[in-house]
Parts: sequence; structure tokens; C-alpha cells
Amino acid sequence: MDFGFTVEDETFRAEAREWLAAHADGAPDRRTWERTLGKAGWIGLGWPEPGYGNRTATLTQQVAWAEEYARSSAPPRSGHIGENLLAPTLLAHGTDDQKSRFLPPIAAGEELWCQGYSEPGAGSDLAGVRTTAVREPQGAYYRVTGQKIWTSLAHEADWCFVLARTEPGSRRHHGLSFLLVPMDQPGRIEARPIRQMTGTSDFNEVFFDGARARVEDVVGGEGDGWRVAMSLLGFERGVSTLAQQIGFAQELGRVVRTAVETGAVRDPVVRERLVRQWAELRTMRWNALRTLGSSGEPGAPSVAKLLWSGWHQRLGELAMQVRGAQAVVGPSHWSPSAPYELDAFQHMFLFSRADTIYGGSDQIQRTIIAERVLGLPREPKADRADKG
Ligand SMILES: Cc1cc2nc3c(=O)[nH]c(=O)nc-3n(C[C@H](O)[C@H](O)[C@H](O)COP(=O)(O)OP(=O)(O)OC[C@H]3O[C@@H](n4cnc5c(N)ncnc54)[C@H](O)[C@@H]3O)c2cc1C
Repeated sequence: MDFGFTVEDETFRAEAREWLAAHADGAPDRRTWERTLGKAGWIGLGWPEPGYGNRTATLTQQVAWAEEYARSSAPPRSGHIGENLLAPTLLAHGTDDQKSRFLPPIAAGEELWCQGYSEPGAGSDLAGVRTTAVREPQGAYYRVTGQKIWTSLAHEADWCFVLARTEPGSRRHHGLSFLLVPMDQPGRIEARPIRQMTGTSDFNEVFFDGARARVEDVVGGEGDGWRVAMSLLGFERGVSTLAQQIGFAQELGRVVRTAVETGAVRDPVVRERLVRQWAELRTMRWNALRTLGSSGEPGAPSVAKLLWSGWHQRLGELAMQVRGAQAVVGPSHWSPSAPYELDAFQHMFLFSRADTIYGGSDQIQRTIIAERVLGLPREPKADRADKG
């Protein structure tokens, strides 16, 4: 795509930068930050419809906002699941009532969402979900029962969109529905944080024990959940990919500086690896610019995901390598029985192990590319999902 910023885009960028400089530094907790963003109208820029408290922006302005955000000291977003996954899904498949009930609080940063897809027996093979939603005899509510896992931010979220089986005895992608479930149901929903090797808990196991979901909060109608769930996964991440690359460039810059400080840069193998990271990052940027806005290029999100997941993992390994023996040492007060704060490199190295799993594993991306881009014969079981 011919990608250039107009004068209006640059004015928009300047406004974004100025606002972020005035508000992001020392931002309070993440929930308050979401409200601050919402009040100023920065949530929902990319929604195809205005009028829910969001302002709309052109594609290039969205890129400018995302880039400025990545350059600023603003905290990571906790409202992105509602803003970037659920909202476009509601705009495509929701009723007018659902849109006017759920979109304004997302735009205001008031209600946070989590994604209830994966289960212990259903990850890449999402059609294996076993969570059930049974309609109450009076008919106003479903009762949701089952277990989800790896549910990011479930411990903070107000709502969860849940893929559940509404047709008893149905198999695979038939008989599923996409339900909007309020999380504040003590005794009926429990989110248990999973502690990761980074020491932090970003995701959870979520247990539903007869949790209630209103019948009118089924998106797309009963039994149409697979279509809605797949459509949600199809929303491209073109704009956020460019912002992510700015974050990657900053991380690479820190690794290069450390290599100079520790002397690791004198090793020709390390130099070669650093240059390769730089070159690959440039390639990813051109690829993102090429595919941005070209809605529907088959396999494009899978190619982008496959490129960045491996790249980021290799950067984590390189960060450890340039640090030398120091890389594996904790702070002086470390003791084996107590958690300790990882520094940024250690955190990047450990967390990046997940990069090739979430959002669809590398193996699944390769299968999608093989089938949809290269036109190779399909795998016998074709219900996999690139998600989460
Ligand atoms: C940090 C993080 C956050 C996440 N957040 C969420 C969330 O918010 N909501 C949510 O619903 N889920 C979330 N997930 C779950 C994520 O979507 C799943 O982990 C992912 O889909 C893989 O499923 P699985 O873990 O069950 O692995 P499995 O599907 O069991 O796969 C295990 C291994 O087998 C390989 N494999 C599986 N099938 C095939 C195949 N057909 N061909 C070749 N190889 C195959 C996989 O690539 C993988 O290496 C998150 C995961 C992580 C790591």
C-alpha cells in the first residue's frame, strides 16, 4: 500500500504525542489509566462506526496514535481485548441493543474484557470446547458450566466472552454459542491466577459453575458461535503490529547498547546475530506496511505472527548472551524460596517463550500459510484456530 502521512495526520500525531506526554508519565493503576484514555476519546479509533463515545480516525492516524503510544511511557493496555477483539465483533454481528449496551463502556475504559476460548482439552483445536451453556426453564438466562484456561486478564476483567456448547450432544464446531458473561458472580465464577516462570500472573484458570448469562447477550444467535468466534480471530492486527515493532526496536537498541558495554560486541558471531535482528526487523516493517489495509490478503496475519514470534524469542536469547554470566544472576537479596524481581532482559527472555504459543502457535501458523497461501493439501482435521 502507498503509505504516507498527510499534514492532517501529522497534526493528529502531534496532538497524540502532546497528550501522552502530559498524561502518561507516572500514570496510576492500569484501570484508572483506561478511564483516562477513554475520557479523552482515545479508545475505539479504529472502529468502523462512530457514535459510541469513540472518535474515529483514518488508518494512518491510527498508526500515528499506536506509534506515539509505543514511544511514550504509557503503561501496557488492559482494555485491548474489549477494544480490538470484542468491539469489532459486536459491530459486525451484534444487535443494536448489544452495541449500545457494551460499546460505550469499552470506549470509556469503564469495562474490561477477557477471552474465554481455550480449555484444558481445547487449544489449537478449539472445536473441542466442552463448556456448556444450558438455558434455564424460565428462559431468561443460560447457566454456564465448565473450565477455561490461559484466560489473560480474567482476574481484572468485568466481562468474559465465552465460547460454549448450547446444543447438548453436539460435536466439533456445531451447536456452539458466543456468550457475554459478567465476571462478578461470586460462587459461580472463580478466576485462579496461574503463576508463570516470570513470577507474574498474567493469565488464569477460570471455573464456571452455573454462571448466568442473559439470553439477549448471545452474539450472532444460539448455535452460531463458531462463525462469530472465528470472525473475532480474523480481525487483523495491522496497526498494532507497527506499534509493536517500535517496542521491538527499542528492545533491540537496549541489547545493542549492552553488547557494547559488556564487550560482547567484539565477538563476530554476536555482531552477526545483532545485525540479523536489525535486518529482520526492517523486513517485518516493510511486510506490515505492505499488507496494512489490504484487507483479506490470505495468510497475512499468520506470516506476520510467524515472523515476529521467532524474532522476539531470538532477541530474548541474544539479550541473555550479551549479558554473559550476569544474565542468570538475581539481585543480591535473592533467595530460592522467595520470588524476586526480574530485570527487563530476564523478563523478556522468559516471557518470550510464550510468543510462539499464544495468538496461535507457530505450527498452526505454518499450516495456515501452507494451506491458504501456498495452496498445499489441507490437513485432515481443519477446525484449528489461530487465537488467544
Ligand atoms: C501468554 C498467553 C496468553 C493467552 N491468552 C489467552 C486468552 O486470553 N484466552 C484464551 O482463550 N486463550 C489464551 N491463550 C491460550 C492459547 O490460545 C493456546 O495456548 C494456544 O491456542 C495453544 O493451545 P494449547 O496451549 O492447548 O496447546 P495445544 O493445542 O495442545 O498444542 C500443543 C503443541 O502441539 C502443536 N499442535 C497442536 N495442533 C497441531 C496441529 N494440528 N499441527 C501441528 N502442531 C500442532 C502446537 O503447535 C503446540 O506446539 C493464551 C496463551 C498464552 C501462552
